[in-house]
Amino acid sequence: MVETFKNYIAGEWVSASDGAVIENLNPATGEVIGYFASATREDTLRAIAAAREALPAWAALPGPARGAILDKAAQIIHTRADELAETLTREEGKTLAESKAEVLRARDIFRYYAGEGFRAGGEVIPANTPETLLFTKSEPLGVVAVITPWNFPIAIPAWKIAPALVYGNTVVFKPASLAPHTALKLVEILVEAGVPAGVINLVVGSGSRVGDTLAESKDINGLSFTGSYAVGTKIYEKTARNFVRTQLEMGGKNPTIVLNDADLDLAVDIVVRGGFGLTGQACTATSRVIVEQGIADAFAQRLAEAARTLRVGDGLQSGVQMGPAVSAEQLQTDLDYVAIGKQEGARLIAGGEPLRSERGFFIQPTVFDDVQPTMRIAQEEIFGPVIGIIRAKDFDDAVEKANQIGYGLSAAIVTHDLQKALRFADRIEAGVVKINEPTSGVALQAPFGGFKASSANTFKEQGQAARAFYTRTKTVYVRYGF
Ligand code: NAD
Repeated sequence: MVETFKNYIAGEWVSASDGAVIENLNPATGEVIGYFASATREDTLRAIAAAREALPAWAALPGPARGAILDKAAQIIHTRADELAETLTREEGKTLAESKAEVLRARDIFRYYAGEGFRAGGEVIPANTPETLLFTKSEPLGVVAVITPWNFPIAIPAWKIAPALVYGNTVVFKPASLAPHTALKLVEILVEAGVPAGVINLVVGSGSRVGDTLAESKDINGLSFTGSYAVGTKIYEKTARNFVRTQLEMGGKNPTIVLNDADLDLAVDIVVRGGFGLTGQACTATSRVIVEQGIADAFAQRLAEAARTLRVGDGLQSGVQMGPAVSAEQLQTDLDYVAIGKQEGARLIAGGEPLRSERGFFIQPTVFDDVQPTMRIAQEEIFGPVIGIIRAKDFDDAVEKANQIGYGLSAAIVTHDLQKALRFADRIEAGVVKINEPTSGVALQAPFGGFKASSANTFKEQGQAARAFYTRTKTVYVRYGF
């Protein structure tokens, strides 16, 4: 019997007002694993109103008390880590080890922001007049809409919701319809930890019903979105009309440069982890490898071998190194790009085929060589395990090719040459720069966000940087000498 799950609005678990549901599939088997209430526009408006009503009391709660609730949430995530990881793999497809790492990261995010309850404040500034106190107060921004993608269904909600709550905001949370179960469990945990009614609201549903209602609302004060460039830009047009503070973190087409002096084993390992880890379904995944001419043949051969030996399968099974595409549509997109790459004249040296023997949405890890920077497979985000090798004359040519792109999220270089590594950090147009590490994987305590079309370039996420987005500053002048 497949279970049906509800939304959480104003402190109650509720069905959609029109009774509609969304089907949740296991991408490794194609089986239906749950039905989720598909919120309507009316449900979404009710969630916004509940968040508005709950705001004054939550904002008035002392920071340490809000932090204590987050700390409790972290403890519950820790206790339920194995179960959460299994839920995540079952609906999103990544391997159990990848899911477990993501769940523990979410736990740590809640721990980190629990501490912020003790720290968040303002500053005292020297005044121009005697006996005057001049200071700033950090206030909550207000009601915040959180819209998240399916590829990190607990970590991304955590890195938006934890700072939102600890800084005194109330939240309307719309997770991606492809991975709603992990999101729902996170909300359950927040409720169990003591988050009051109305402070967190869950509205699973489509972009056109729930997403548009949130983006068009005059009753929200902030909107934090992670997802594709196409959706992000549409949201921005709507929120701008109401001056709603907006944070958009979007797609990537992340390069890894491999220089002639690189250790081949290390370079291949870094590219395999960055490009095939999480089935290539990470905003920071490596999709372009720009290799200096002298090492290019050897590197291409080794990367193709590594791609062929990766074990692809159901992420719940032990020994599996790469799970399926998240959906039949995503698998089709991956295969379409393989066809486009061939048509464009790139040379397929590994993979490129679906795994027909499996029931789910599987594709082989894929490598193209002789990719030109202007080809579509080098310019457009595929969001699958498809890596293109671009050959470069020298370091300068490699950096130029790396920057020849509209996106600017993450970029890596593999080299022992300190001068070139640091020049790369100076010249690369990306918000995250990795030296001898994969493009994917970031520290939760450091600022995170892209440049160019990867971001609205307004506010960074994570670490202390999140505070700027989730608070507003009031400046207070107190003259006490007359
Ligand atoms: P998506 O843009 O299709 O969806 C993201 C969210 O927006 C989902 O919850 C979706 O339902 C919602 N949405 C869809 N239409 C909407 C609308 N009209 N109004 C408001 N919301 C709407 O992205 P996805 O397929 O879920 O995720 C993959 C994308 O996310 C990739 O482009 C990837 O690079 C990006 N991503 C970026 C980061 C980052 O931090 N930069 C992290 C992870 C994923």
